[in-house]
Amino acid sequence: MSKTIIVSNRLPVKLTDNEGEISFTPSEGGLATGLGSIYRETNNIWIGWPGMEIGDEAVQQKVQQELGEQNLKAVFLTQEEINHYYEGFSNEILWPVFHYMPTYARYHQQYWDYYYAVNEKFRDVILQNMEPGDTIWIHDYQLLLLPGLLRSAVPDATIGFFQHIPFPSFELFRMIPWRVELLDGLLGADLIGFHTFDDARHFVSAARGLTSAISSSNEISYNNRNIVVDSFPMGIDSKKFHELTKEPLVREYIAELKKSFENTRLILSIDRLDYSKGILQRLRAYELLLQLNPDYVGSIVLYMIVVPSRDNVQQYKELLDEIDKTVGGINARYRTMNWQPVSYFYRSLPVEELSALYATAEICLVTPMRDGMNLVCKEYIASRENGDGVLILSEMAGASKELSDAIIVNPNNIHAIMLAIEEALAMPLAEQKRRMQLMKEIVMKFNVSHWVKLFMTRLKEVKQMQVSMFARHISETSGNNIKRLYANAENRLIFLDYDGTLVGFSADIEMAAPDEELYTILEKLAEDPANRVVIVSGRNPEFLEKWFGALHIDMVAEHGAWTKSAHKGWQSLPGLNAQWKKEFFPVLEAFADRTPGAFIEEKDFSLVWHYRKVEESLGELRSNEIMSTLRYLAEDKGLQVLPGNKVVEIKNIEINKGKAALSFLQEGAYDFNMAIGDDYTDEDIFKALPSTAVSIKVGSQVSAARYSINDYREVRKFLKFLAGSNVFNQPAALAAKEK
Ligand code: UDP
Repeated sequence: MSKTIIVSNRLPVKLTDNEGEISFTPSEGGLATGLGSIYRETNNIWIGWPGMEIGDEAVQQKVQQELGEQNLKAVFLTQEEINHYYEGFSNEILWPVFHYMPTYARYHQQYWDYYYAVNEKFRDVILQNMEPGDTIWIHDYQLLLLPGLLRSAVPDATIGFFQHIPFPSFELFRMIPWRVELLDGLLGADLIGFHTFDDARHFVSAARGLTSAISSSNEISYNNRNIVVDSFPMGIDSKKFHELTKEPLVREYIAELKKSFENTRLILSIDRLDYSKGILQRLRAYELLLQLNPDYVGSIVLYMIVVPSRDNVQQYKELLDEIDKTVGGINARYRTMNWQPVSYFYRSLPVEELSALYATAEICLVTPMRDGMNLVCKEYIASRENGDGVLILSEMAGASKELSDAIIVNPNNIHAIMLAIEEALAMPLAEQKRRMQLMKEIVMKFNVSHWVKLFMTRLKEVKQMQVSMFARHISETSGNNIKRLYANAENRLIFLDYDGTLVGFSADIEMAAPDEELYTILEKLAEDPANRVVIVSGRNPEFLEKWFGALHIDMVAEHGAWTKSAHKGWQSLPGLNAQWKKEFFPVLEAFADRTPGAFIEEKDFSLVWHYRKVEESLGELRSNEIMSTLRYLAEDKGLQVLPGNKVVEIKNIEINKGKAALSFLQEGAYDFNMAIGDDYTDEDIFKALPSTAVSIKVGSQVSAARYSINDYREVRKFLKFLAGSNVFNQPAALAAKEK
């Protein structure tokens, strides 16, 4: 039976070493709980680092065996690997850049070497445990290369990836020296998930800007595969937090807190020690509040928990010192005989104490500079038993996209945080309850199990979509079937793209002229009175007229801007405007000036930037740049910017090969429809045709077409076969591929 394999840097266990005797307890984090429903079931497993260096092989074996009983598999790492891959590359490069603090990044080559090697190590453990049909779900920024490494080893694997931290805007991401390798790694997945739509959008623009990937909304096409990028805001185990407040131990803690802070209103702040959390800014805002509102003295307390994290690292040590000093300063300046403004704890708390704090505090102050999601704010909401309380939430936390009924603040604006605390302290109970109820509904519904379900369902859908987008090579059998349909039909409509479909690609657009063989094929097709043959091209009417004007065929030029029915004149699509060309031409020219070999073709209703003579990767890079530069301007003017075969084309939104094909379809009752094309723009025809049509993609198998064929030579052979020749001698290897 096929299984699911969860992969993350850490296994969901805590190991303790008691003088060589290693024992472990399951961890209770949200992710472990959410995924518990998966990995504990049947033969599913979770692969990760156990959180401790275990050098002795005998001990490793023993630990592996014990973990195995709980469906866990360890990837053992040395201290050196942990230092470079985890502390180094993950936490000193990816963490700061992805949290918009690039000045903290340290780009050491050694970090990268270890990051790569450890990702390979993870791959190897997966390969040892993986069987055909398994689903792999990889988690987070420590394993960005893993989807790609795994894809190379198992090309048809089902791989999902979820990133728990933000994905930065393209301008930040591009600073990383190994940016392309990282993207290439991620793009090995079938589904890539982030907490927010903005993260997903940033990832898509990085992929477009730095690799040859092309995208249409949240679907990316890369290396002949379709990948979906989407947002899946993660939830918490909300039921657990909701119910925890009823536990006797929690009730006891709540009673103690209420007693200790009688007549004082608690403002709660809980974070791990990290510069992304905005702890110092929060303290300054609180100090400003006391400074400007002396009447709060004695009546409010900031209850601040900082959970220890990485404080052996210099930056974190400094941050901790700074927090200590700031808290000390505030307490020294404002304390009274029997009151202290900040109750500060540098330690982690058991969940029961946490729950009691959530249940007691009137205000929860969550103001990170950047946070992928932030779970503390959701836990606070789930723990509010009476439905009161106020959440102040940073707009830089992923959670702010869902919890819009919080008081939302910019964490850099200390004055605004102070005002938010004032507003929260003054908020009437009814208003508190109104907001809290709306947020609670969201937190309870979109809990962590819901999140897991959504992701896994989407991954299945993506896999199905890939199959439906997989055009099958035409074999001898399917070729014969198509010929039978063709022979039995009385009224046929045949769409043929030109460049790349009927002729090969030439660096010089004038050179790709039709030859004798092609003329013979087209004449043969056209002389059959049952056939209506339409050449649908991106070329301008002059080219098509010069080459095919004498044949009895129909033509569509400039992707649909011009149409010509056999022996009738050319007609342009009504209502098209070409004024915009004046504005766009200089922009394309600027790109051509810095790209040797690029040139611009001006057509009546479109502009084309050609890069067929440009060095390949530079051409692809520039075409992506052009598309991102012009996309917004173009949308504004009712234009579209489309990638083609070694071209980027700008044209009116109304111009579309699919629409042109539809108008032909509507002109008659055809019992055989066929379209052959190689280009992105031909996909519109494939989609416009009825599902019974014979649609054939040239040169690729990722397409909305039903069939695929290798190149223009095979297209010619196939057309000859349809029009009369006896054999369609598809190579045996291709025929075998057809399922
Ligand atoms: N937490 C904890 N012990 C503590 C305080 C907090 O385990 O003493 C938990 C808290 O319940 C929450 C998590 O730490 O689930 C913090 O998650 P969040 O997304 O807010 O921040 P992260 O630390 O992951 O950046």
